[in-house]
Amino acid sequence: MAVVVQKYGGSSVGTTEKIKGIAESIVKRKNENTDLVIVVSAMGKTTDDLIALSKGITQQPDKRELDAILSTGEIISSALLAMAIKALGCDAISYTAHQIGIQTSGQYGKALIKDIQDKKIKKSLKEGKIVIVAGFQGINEDGDITTLGRGGSDTTAVALAVKLCGSCEIYTDVAGIYSVDPRAYGEAKKLDEIEYEEMLELASLGAQIMHSRSIELAQKYGIPIYVGLSNSDIKGTVIREVKNMDMESKPVTGIATSDEDVAVTLQRIPKDVNILATIFEAIGSKRINIDMISQTSPIDGTVNVSFTIPKESLKDSLEIIDNVVVDNKVIVDADITKFSLVGLGMKTTSGVAARVFRVFSKNSIEIKMITTSEIRITCAIKTEDKLKAIQVIAKEFNM
Ligand code: ASP
Ligand code: MG
Repeated sequence: MAVVVQKYGGSSVGTTEKIKGIAESIVKRKNENTDLVIVVSAMGKTTDDLIALSKGITQQPDKRELDAILSTGEIISSALLAMAIKALGCDAISYTAHQIGIQTSGQYGKALIKDIQDKKIKKSLKEGKIVIVAGFQGINEDGDITTLGRGGSDTTAVALAVKLCGSCEIYTDVAGIYSVDPRAYGEAKKLDEIEYEEMLELASLGAQIMHSRSIELAQKYGIPIYVGLSNSDIKGTVIREVKNMDMESKPVTGIATSDEDVAVTLQRIPKDVNILATIFEAIGSKRINIDMISQTSPIDGTVNVSFTIPKESLKDSLEIIDNVVVDNKVIVDADITKFSLVGLGMKTTSGVAARVFRVFSKNSIEIKMITTSEIRITCAIKTEDKLKAIQVIAKEFNM
């Protein structure tokens, strides 16, 4: 029988009432003769609350212990959902990562799934049970509890779908993937389907809908992901490989924005690649993500180098820079929003950047930095211009 892996996000399991509602639709689905594996997130804002609780002890909680605490949120919702399903007379069983061997490697707080021991799950499915799995958690080589990074339950769900050769459905509180955040642009259109590559860009650029690693994983194994509302007939969005796309008529599929970064400029550093390599190696070794790198052409043997980093990594990065470059002048610009347009159609359509610049110029939106890839244009703009930028660009590209 085909296995369907469904994932319910924090807002879908936010209250016991909601959990009971979901249990009903799960039982209905089970009665259509499907093997179901359900992945749940923690209830509502539980993960935030658990972080706040830990910070009541210390501002820098021990990472191993923090993961131990954070994993409890998903254990609570998985057990409650199993109870709710059983109360409806259908058999169900909840499992933690330890119980089913979700093996991870890497750091606490951002562990990667290596493998899942599917024996127990398959046995429970064979016994007719609905299997409920606590998302977002794993067990590392030392047998310690690890978490996968915020939003990581999506990745748990896709990994299970891969392992069980099943399909994957992600249920959330939005009706699907929109070209633009509907809260910023009321006329935003919901997409019927979106290509992995585009979704990956949007997710990693700040569209908060899905954990980007889940999309990478789905793309790698060619698993389509359905994203939609729980308990609703409204049709959602399918993330998959889109063939025969009408590329030229639609150069831009989506807009994503992020206020999470700062821009750092190193002024008049010696024109020496060795120095750059040393700085970027040191920052990289702390797993700080550098983005939007640009350099001016040399004048008197010196260059200005700018890049963006996540706000929370600024202090660490400045310390590193201070150790490598002597006498440097560092300028930090915290007032930036990364504004990105994404679309596979850009590969074959020219002039997209020109249209963006023209629209920005007409609307007096200043661009501080620019980077591009084959399917993306990202501009760093002032945060106060964000809403205007979204609206004028969405209109320009009929999104
Ligand atoms: N509960 C975790 C979080 O809030 C994981 C998830 O929701 O997927 O980040
Ligand atoms: Mg999420």
